[in-house]
Amino acid sequence: MKILVVNCGSSSLKYQLIDMAKDNSLAQGLVERIGIEGSILTQKVNGEKYIVEQPMESHQDAIKLVLEALVEETHGVIKSMDEISAVGHRVVHGGENYAESVLIDDEVMKALEECVKLAPLHNPPNITGINACKALMPNTPMVAVFDTAFHQSMPDKAYMYALPYELYEKHGIRRYGMHGTSHRYVSQRVAEVVGKPIEELKIVTCHLGNGASCAAIQNGKSVDTSMGFTPLEGLVMGTRCGDIDPAIVPFIQKAENLTAAEVDTLMNKKSGVFGLSGVSSDFRDIEGAIENGNDRARLALDVFHYRVKKYIGAYTAAMGGTDLIVFTAGLGENSKDSREAVCEGLEYLGVKIDKEKNNFRGEERLISTDDSTVKVFVIPTNEELMIAKDTKAIVDAL
Ligand code: ADP
Repeated sequence: MKILVVNCGSSSLKYQLIDMAKDNSLAQGLVERIGIEGSILTQKVNGEKYIVEQPMESHQDAIKLVLEALVEETHGVIKSMDEISAVGHRVVHGGENYAESVLIDDEVMKALEECVKLAPLHNPPNITGINACKALMPNTPMVAVFDTAFHQSMPDKAYMYALPYELYEKHGIRRYGMHGTSHRYVSQRVAEVVGKPIEELKIVTCHLGNGASCAAIQNGKSVDTSMGFTPLEGLVMGTRCGDIDPAIVPFIQKAENLTAAEVDTLMNKKSGVFGLSGVSSDFRDIEGAIENGNDRARLALDVFHYRVKKYIGAYTAAMGGTDLIVFTAGLGENSKDSREAVCEGLEYLGVKIDKEKNNFRGEERLISTDDSTVKVFVIPTNEELMIAKDTKAIVDAL
């Protein structure tokens, strides 16, 4: 069975065709500048690039080109579109409606529309992508896999804010969490690697990329996570501030004469390691600037590491201990220095990093010492495979 995984943004679209017989990716691609001049599709098969530069006015145009690229005679990987058994769509927000992935039907589409108010930037392009695929592949089953779903298992004490209760009832203001597909994938994978049933494990997963979040996973279920009502809460990120005193919002609105929307942009796009360092939102640039003696870059990374460390401590307390810590995503998979800095001082919890074992990047490996009671792993995330697996399970049961 071959499954197409689609992740649709407002002007871009990522895709992968996955062969479920071997869980391997046959082709990966990215369409950029949809609806803007200079539309471009880049597909990679076995490391070889195939580029199509052609105007794409809509997501439907983009999907059409994706399907053409997949069946293209020399650069494609399948003979006909009919080989695609199902499509798995990444959807950011499922609200309280979905704790699991779901077969897309009219009712699901209606629920996705209702969630637009919770994810005004992300859900609309996800919906557009689904509609575009449905128009071109009307008989192919489609599955929605939600970023929020895994965290629906959080208990109310973890997801409620101490605001007037009516705001939760009226507007759904509560913590939802994101990156659920990644936290679920790496927690299931690390349980496999250590050879223990996930139901017997306490795991802290650290998804450290441009967007970053930690999760506390007990008995295979998310019991807490650092992102909240929106992806702004929690860790310091590339351009997002993460946790701050909420009273700062009206204060800067007044002091800097900004509108609410401008403060929102400031916290989402101009803060984080970018805002602190003044250098870049990219952690590689921050590390480079530190090597050149840039003190604010050093400060930005220190604040970032300290926040992750605090969340690991908090989640260990929330679960009454932890057996495993997992690092994943761009920085988590690639930066030995960040992994070491985050774990430094956690020896009291039984966390000891082996510097030599930790000296690598981008692979699945144990990085703690033999006598570390908490095992620390790097597990490269694979959200696309998780989406494909969910899609297969749902389609198999039809
Ligand atoms: P997202 O999916 O949220 O955009 P990624 O998981 O792709 O994020 O992570 C991107 C981040 O990972 C970037 O800030 C990048 O600098 C960082 N990163 C990637 N490779 C390295 C590396 N070798 N060393 C340090 N940081 C890295």
